[in-house]
Order: sequence, then structure tokens, then C-alpha cells
Amino acid sequence: QAKSSGRNMVCFFDPEMQAEMEQRAELEKDLRASIRLNQLMLYYQMQVDESGRIVGAEALIRWRHPRRGMVSPAEFIPLAEEIGMIIPIGDWVIEQACAQLKRWEMEPAMRKICLSVNVSPRQLSQPWFVEQVKDAIEKTGIRASRLKLELTESFVLDDVEEAIEKMQELRDIGIRFAMDDFGTGYSSLAYLKRLPLEQLKIDQSFVRDIASDKSNAVMVRTIISIANNFGLEIVAEGVETDDQFAFLIQYGCNRFQGYMFGRPVPPDEFERLCKPSGEPQT
Ligand code: C2E
Ligand code: MG
Ligand code: MG
Ligand code: MG
Repeated sequence: QAKSSGRNMVCFFDPEMQAEMEQRAELEKDLRASIRLNQLMLYYQMQVDESGRIVGAEALIRWRHPRRGMVSPAEFIPLAEEIGMIIPIGDWVIEQACAQLKRWEMEPAMRKICLSVNVSPRQLSQPWFVEQVKDAIEKTGIRASRLKLELTESFVLDDVEEAIEKMQELRDIGIRFAMDDFGTGYSSLAYLKRLPLEQLKIDQSFVRDIASDKSNAVMVRTIISIANNFGLEIVAEGVETDDQFAFLIQYGCNRFQGYMFGRPVPPDEFERLCKPSGEPQT
């Protein structure tokens, strides 16, 4: 955007844009240092069944920035993808998740928890992705079936054959896969049939207005029937109200994730939530 300065000359300099670029550059620099400085951590959000029993958890990354406070992954994951930092961050997430599962194996209340971990398309397309995941599992000695990897539909468009091959290889050792934010991407049912998936996650945008927006309700029912027909588990994301919960149950959904049941919380808090009530809490 060109602006003429007071001295009557055209200047391609927009102070607002400049400030934005500087901010971004700084965020980028900080993100590159975040792993080394121990600023990343995983929060855990429960997944429950109809009765509210905890059946799993999703690991959600958090960045504790010294000046900005908590930076949302919605803000820094896209940046990390752009600058390639998603690779070391993704590795860190998988290692952390496996280490957490290892610790949980030693606690009766946590032993059965299955942990879902988000994997970005760029991470999956790394040639050594499969080895890395296998390494993390071998190093910790956890059961691979405790780990679920969440992919988004966008990865399907890149290279389907390669993605299927990698998924199959990990599937062979017991790792399971979920399709995250289902319904928001462009994948076809033909892909869906070929991917070794275990679970579909209904995107929260469909759940939000399920009671008031007829097309969202139709969307949710369709996704549930697709899941049923393909023999896939179904999880509804972003469940916040009794109404949404009631609609989802009526439509045949049997797994739920959302603020109504629990927000993403640090590991110690999550462990407290998993302890059977009545047990003294320390
Ligand atoms: P996602 O994988 O679809 O995760 C669900 C998001 O919905 C999380 O946002 C969660 O906090 C939020 N959520 C859960 N229940 C509710 C609810 O009832 N209402 C509302 N409004 N929101 C709810 P979060 O933690 O901010 O993460 C945003 C996205 O960032 C994730 O969406 C995922 O795509 C990405 N992400 C998070 N952690 C990681 C990670 O470790 N690796 C990668 N590659 N991406 C990650
Ligand atoms: Mg997810
Ligand atoms: Mg999602
Ligand atoms: Mg999402």
C-alpha cells in the first residue's frame, strides 16, 4: 500500500504492516527457541461416553510464551507449518505423548486411557515419519494401541498412496487413526474407504448450531451414518451444552469431547479428573 509522505514522495512503507511483520518475525524467532526453552507443554482433554465415563483423551499443545502468555495453537501451528518448525514440534509432541502414556501405565486409574495426538500433514509427509513414531514407541515400551493419531482431511489431497502406505505400516504395529474435523475438508468417500481409519471426529462447527441450524443437524446425522456404514467410531467435538449433547445422542453418537465435560488441562489436573470420585485426592 503506497502512502505519500509529508514531503510529497511516494513511499511503499506502511507502519502498520511493518509492525505486523516485525511481530511475526519475533514470534517466529521465539517459536524456534520454544522447544529448547521448555516453553511447550501438552494439555489433555477428556473424551467420554454417553454416561460421562472417560474413554480417552486428546493431547493439545500449549505454548507458554514469557511475554504473551499462553499462545493458542490456532495461532502458532499454522506459523510452525509455514516455517518448517512443525517437524521438530511434531516430534516433540509424539515423544511427550508416549512418555505420558508410559507414566500413566503405572497408575491404575490411567492405565486404560487411549491418547489421541494431532499430526500435521507436513509431519506425515516426512520420509522418516513412520520410523520416528516407531522409535518413540519402542523407546518408551508403551503399547502402540494406546496411541491414536489424528489426521485432517487436507493430507489426503497431497499424496494418497503414500499416506495410505504409511498409515498401514503404523496400523500393523497397532497404532490407530482418526480423521479430525471431518466434514470440513474435501476428501471423497472413495478415499475414506481406503484409509485404515478407526474413528471420525465431527467438527465442532457442525455441533455448535446443531439445535438451531437444520443443515448442520443434517450434516451431523450424515457423518454419523457414514461412520456407522464404514464401521468407524464417532466422536463429536466441541460439545458445550446439554442440548447439543441430547441431539448427538439422539442421532446415535456415542463419544463426546467438549467443554461440557472438561476443558483441556495440564496432566496433573487431568489425572485428578480420572481418579474415581471418593478416592482421596492429594
Ligand atoms: P483440534 O485437533 O480439532 O482440537 C480441538 C480443539 O477444540 C482444541 O483447540 C480444543 O481446546 C477445542 N475445544 C474442545 N472442546 C471445545 C468446546 O466445547 N468448545 C470450543 N469452542 N472449543 C473446544 P486448541 O487446543 O486451541 O487446538 C486448536 C487446533 O490446533 C487443534 O484442533 C489442532 O488442529 C491444532 N493442534 C493442537 N495441538 C496440536 C499438536 O500437538 N500438533 C498439531 N499438529 N496440531 C495441534
Ligand atoms: Mg484433534
Ligand atoms: Mg478437531
Ligand atoms: Mg480443529
